Amino acid sequence: MKDLQSIQHLIEAFEELPSIGKKSATRLALSLAKDKFKALKLINAIEEVVTNVKTCEICGNFSEHEICSICDDPNRDKTVAVVESPKDVLVIEESGSYHGYYFVLNHLDDEHIQKLRNLIKEKEIKEVIFAFPPSVESEARVLYLEDKLKDLNLEFSQIAQGVPTGVHFENVDINSLAKAIKLRFKL
Ligand SMILES: [Zn+2]
Repeated sequence: MKDLQSIQHLIEAFEELPSIGKKSATRLALSLAKDKFKALKLINAIEEVVTNVKTCEICGNFSEHEICSICDDPNRDKTVAVVESPKDVLVIEESGSYHGYYFVLNHLDDEHIQKLRNLIKEKEIKEVIFAFPPSVESEARVLYLEDKLKDLNLEFSQIAQGVPTGVHFENVDINSLAKAIKLRFKL
């Protein structure tokens, strides 16, 4: 319908978001068209995120400051959990089973590895925990990273296989993730 082009644009924008299909996108767009107050609240919240949220310079996690509150906390354990995305940090923090630092490894390039090395030295890290969802790709990545960090006198471990293969952490219940970290095994 030509007359409803703006709603159509909103539907398309929602559809680009993860786990939102056409049906949900349509439902969301129509509900916002109906409730202008809710719509403005959403605009405001999105604008705040766009303006305030950046990437922590040390660990790559989301933060509203140059350095996130976890990196800024000197009382965390001397361990670093290497994860795939900021979302994993949220899930693991929520599980309450881990009290060390994090490093978000988006790309396996020299720049990121150097950042990880800096964090390890700066926080006097003793153990690196690879907290990737189990897959063949992850195995290769772990081997590569171990090789790149082997001169730093560290212990390496990997989260236990309580996490099903190929499943993302957000879909894993908190208890099994907490267990996977507690039951991590040395490499
Ligand atoms: Zn940080």
